[in-house]
Amino acid sequence: MTANRVGEQTAGSLALALLASCAAAPTTTTPPAPVELVVLGIAQDGGLPHFGCEQPCCVQARQSGRVLFPACLGVVDRRGDDGPRLLLIEATPRIEEQVALLHELASVQGRGRQPVDAVLTTHAHLGHYLGLAWFGREVAGSKQVPLHASPRFCAFVREHAPWRQLVALGQLAPMPFVVGEPFAPWPGLQVTALAVPHRDEWSDTMAFVVRGPQRAVLFVPDVDAWDKAPGLLRRLLDGVDIAYLDGTFYDGRELPDRDLAEIPHPLMTRTMELLAEVAAQRPGALRFLHCNHSNPVLHDAALRERLTARGFALAVQGERVAL
Ligand SMILES: [Zn+2]
Ligand SMILES: [Zn+2]
Ligand SMILES: [Zn+2]
Repeated sequence: MTANRVGEQTAGSLALALLASCAAAPTTTTPPAPVELVVLGIAQDGGLPHFGCEQPCCVQARQSGRVLFPACLGVVDRRGDDGPRLLLIEATPRIEEQVALLHELASVQGRGRQPVDAVLTTHAHLGHYLGLAWFGREVAGSKQVPLHASPRFCAFVREHAPWRQLVALGQLAPMPFVVGEPFAPWPGLQVTALAVPHRDEWSDTMAFVVRGPQRAVLFVPDVDAWDKAPGLLRRLLDGVDIAYLDGTFYDGRELPDRDLAEIPHPLMTRTMELLAEVAAQRPGALRFLHCNHSNPVLHDAALRERLTARGFALAVQGERVAL
């Protein structure tokens, strides 16, 4: 354990005060809420089963037909007169199945070549943006789908093949947001992008806070470590009702050959240590996703029960939050 882990603990205690101040409890409503956030995937970039893995985690998934899509959220806004508006947060390589699930959860049909109204991407790693290619001429051939991303990400898609072809042909319309400032994919839906430390070869990396009329939800699928930027966890959780957090690795047992200090993700056990008080006060508000195919939490029901007993949760593909 490093010295600045103490600073993380402080951040966790602060986060407790901030998160606990939110009065409303998360609920699923019937009939559906006017604005809903839905979970369309909970796995790490490669999903489950994972290309190149022949360990029991993926061999068994192939045998049983179990499939977990890469981490991805959707927002359904039913307040307009022209049918629900749809926002896709991350364009993964499983975009077809995930948008089909979004349409099913939103009871939407007939969208044709404009399957969603806008797309947000956190960063340029394959599980988070390769699906943008599906908007291109080989597949949907969409028209001017707004792509809300950081200025660096937008510059990346404008400059590099194959992405620049989608921009040139008017299939995607990159719309850089200002990092740290709220923006609106459409009126009444607010998003704030916050920069987080991560392996930033092609773009920087964002977390998103999505705010509807009732709740704010944090989405931070990839982060190197909570203590890499001072006060990061506190800033991310400020005013948030539900948080979807990086749950890539559980406690390192899934990486027996790696030095724990060099794993570029906060272990779930460490995050649970830091946020223990929040979870106890607001059970179910802190939910893990972006789980690696090897993460035992995906495969061990008893472990998931212990997680729940401590007030945390594993996100579930298809779950809905009234936003
Ligand atoms: Zn990722
Ligand atoms: Zn595997
Ligand atoms: Zn990444």
